[in-house]
Amino acid sequence: MPALPKAFTDTLQGLPGFREETFLRVHESPERVTSIRLQRQKITDVKELFPQLETTPVPWTSGGYYLSSRPSFTFDPYFHAGAYYVQEASSMFLEEAIRQTTGGEPLKALDLCAAPGGKSTLIQGILHADSVLVANEVIKARAALLADNLTKWGAANVVVTNNDPRDFARLPEYFDLVAVDAPCSGSGLFRRDPEAVEEWSQDNVMLCSQRQQRILADVFPALRPGGVLIYSTCSYAVEEDEQIMDWLVENFGMENIPLQLRPGWHIVETASGQHHAKGYRFYPDQVKGEGFFIACFRKPGTAGSPQKFKAGFSALPKKEAELVLPWLRNGAEMALMAHNGEAIALTLPLAKEMPLLQKQLYIRKAGVKAGQLTAKELVPDHQLAVSNCVAEGLPAAELSQEQALRYLRKEDLALENAAKGWNLMRFNGKNLGWAKVLPNRVNNYYPKELRILKAGTPDL
Ligand code: SAM
Repeated sequence: MPALPKAFTDTLQGLPGFREETFLRVHESPERVTSIRLQRQKITDVKELFPQLETTPVPWTSGGYYLSSRPSFTFDPYFHAGAYYVQEASSMFLEEAIRQTTGGEPLKALDLCAAPGGKSTLIQGILHADSVLVANEVIKARAALLADNLTKWGAANVVVTNNDPRDFARLPEYFDLVAVDAPCSGSGLFRRDPEAVEEWSQDNVMLCSQRQQRILADVFPALRPGGVLIYSTCSYAVEEDEQIMDWLVENFGMENIPLQLRPGWHIVETASGQHHAKGYRFYPDQVKGEGFFIACFRKPGTAGSPQKFKAGFSALPKKEAELVLPWLRNGAEMALMAHNGEAIALTLPLAKEMPLLQKQLYIRKAGVKAGQLTAKELVPDHQLAVSNCVAEGLPAAELSQEQALRYLRKEDLALENAAKGWNLMRFNGKNLGWAKVLPNRVNNYYPKELRILKAGTPDL
């Protein structure tokens, strides 16, 4: 990677925890850290995923592991089954931040700057199952990627939206928890993204800082009094970190929530210049992870009465619901919604929120699409196959790794002894998608836009 510009390192001098020599050394070193987080509703043992690698827990998260080397995730069927998410280790500290600032009760949570979905999958994985998560991304193409990653994650209590932060003012005092993982100048990721080194400038830091303020001001009305705001960046710049903390306290009276750290974590506590708000800095020469900053706040005041809205989404008519229920695990405990001839499965708490969310936001994906309804049957959707709510005991074919990769490339498959009709395609018990077995061939229903295009073979 290119040498770090002096203009950049000069801005870090004197910052809490900054040690120039080791910081420069770690940026010069070719060593890279790889970490993943398990989707624990699909898998609990990391050894099943990477038997040939050394795996070590990321200390501030449950289900997060460092891998001793980077496998080719593209050729790993478990990756496509959504059994894990590849996520930078420092940012997994969000789990600890949420645990220390909320009480474990069901929450309405917003991840405002959510693509590609690392924080959203983490939030979904740790909140109470009756919580509702709105994962939002303002850039359309990135919102599509976010939706794909949340499809793979498989939860039925998540809504993906494609809105500008200012649109959330239409949901006054609605969310109990808002995460703003803000777009930033990105210095924390220099090790991974050498191009970012060349693009770095102090002018851009200032632009990012102003944009961060705009985003926070826009979303502020949507947080309920008493609710928690978690702000994070992957920048070391004081203008994007400590100065934003002061700005939140000064302009919105936000109450800073300090966190407890363990000494062995080597995370550096920092305080803002004016109001001494506590935030947490992660330096790659001190933690096993990239550069990161996080701070937590509570909105002052007490909550008013929740917004009233007409309950009732377009529930699936009984006859159609009967076509869908056999495909669902615990279908009786879920809500079924009709949308453009499709059946959508949602958790009951999410279904309750849907009328309001549909009215105020641009929804890209809600819950899990069960499939398209025809007069006689449900044509099951890919979302259902990789979800946590697909019924057990449906016809399924267990594929070898070679077959699984053929399936994921959307190539032809030959399946011996498979039942006729819809079958789940599985790799070591993890669902990859659907295929329809006909008398003389197998139709591969893996979504074209998700298929593996990269040539090569697995090195796993
Ligand atoms: N939270 C994500 C994760 O963990 O995978 C990473 C988010 S990234 C740091 C910041 C996101 O903010 C990007 O997806 C970017 O498209 C989005 N963004 C860019 N400009 C924005 C704006 N003006 N308002 C809100 N979000 C913006």
